[in-house]
Amino acid sequence: MRVNFRRARGTANTEATLAAALERDGRSLHSTARSAADVTCYSLNVANAPALIAEMAGAGCVTIAGGPHASACWVEVARAADYVVVGEGERTLARLLDAIEAGSAAPITGTATAAGGLVPTDHAVRLDAYPPFSHRKGFIECSRGCPHACAYCQTPRLFPGGMRHRSIEACVETARALPDVRFVTPNAFAYGSDGRTPRFGKVRRLLTSLAREDATIWFGTFPSEVRPEFVTDEALELLRSFCANTRVHFGLQSGSDRVLAALGRGHTVVDGMIAVDRVLDHGFVPVVDLILGFPFETDAEQEATLVLAEHLAGRGCRVHAHRFMPLPGTPLAKYPARALVPTARRRLGRLALDGKLTGSVSDLG
Ligand code: SF4
Repeated sequence: MRVNFRRARGTANTEATLAAALERDGRSLHSTARSAADVTCYSLNVANAPALIAEMAGAGCVTIAGGPHASACWVEVARAADYVVVGEGERTLARLLDAIEAGSAAPITGTATAAGGLVPTDHAVRLDAYPPFSHRKGFIECSRGCPHACAYCQTPRLFPGGMRHRSIEACVETARALPDVRFVTPNAFAYGSDGRTPRFGKVRRLLTSLAREDATIWFGTFPSEVRPEFVTDEALELLRSFCANTRVHFGLQSGSDRVLAALGRGHTVVDGMIAVDRVLDHGFVPVVDLILGFPFETDAEQEATLVLAEHLAGRGCRVHAHRFMPLPGTPLAKYPARALVPTARRRLGRLALDGKLTGSVSDLG
């Protein structure tokens, strides 16, 4: 049985992860630009979902959907796909493919169908059980899950149960052949910890073990951003000693403490400013995420975020600004972004022209 993976925007790392997981079970995953026999797997996110759902509905093969959008909207997606993998895919997809090949109609845990509904999953993936990639290289996923529950974020909903980690030995083994070692994690400085209290000794052991003369390590920058309260002198000294990045990327999200509290961010604006000071003190460029247009934000609170963006840009930070987007499966899923204040687009556009702001500025107006 030939199993294909439909390439689409934002799915390269998922494809590499699933290819490695299926390889372990003796299967190959073939990359394809459209649906193809016998089975085509799709990873749906908010950007690619409309087009891929339409494609699945007309596909002439067995279709399997997974990813954050499919997991959150499995009822809708199951109307177009033959099967939906809800949650983590590594083990569930292998089980599902075995059942399809065997012609079995027995329900597979962690999957949903239009006729049978959802059969809840019975496991959480242990990262060491699956390599992050094989011949198709991606980022090393050193940690998965997050104990925080920011109201706009899909991560804690897709990977419930807190934070788990790939072992140092497994990270080193994966990194062995890579000249450029890059990680994906919700919070790089939380490696080895519960995601709330740092264990920098563990981060140090990871980076020490990875160090090789012919390798460049990137940590604490996209796609392994950090949280502001984890930005300490010790963490930054580790980056200086072992890593190549000149930037440290973290989310501050709003210039209003009331908005941060309502989102459940677990830090204040001042916590973010302390992180900015530390990053600058250590000679790195802070890259700071901000989001405008939260549904419950007032004009004054949005103005505070704009002022913060201008302040950060004036201090030599790179601002990464986005308009709020309601993501399925999150507490804010049903709330559209509120309008932006009249000056927002012009002010952010000016920062972008000066090279101090990136992000979806074109979507902000
Ligand atoms: S800390 Fe980051 S990964 Fe965790 S819930 Fe908040 S935004 Fe999501």
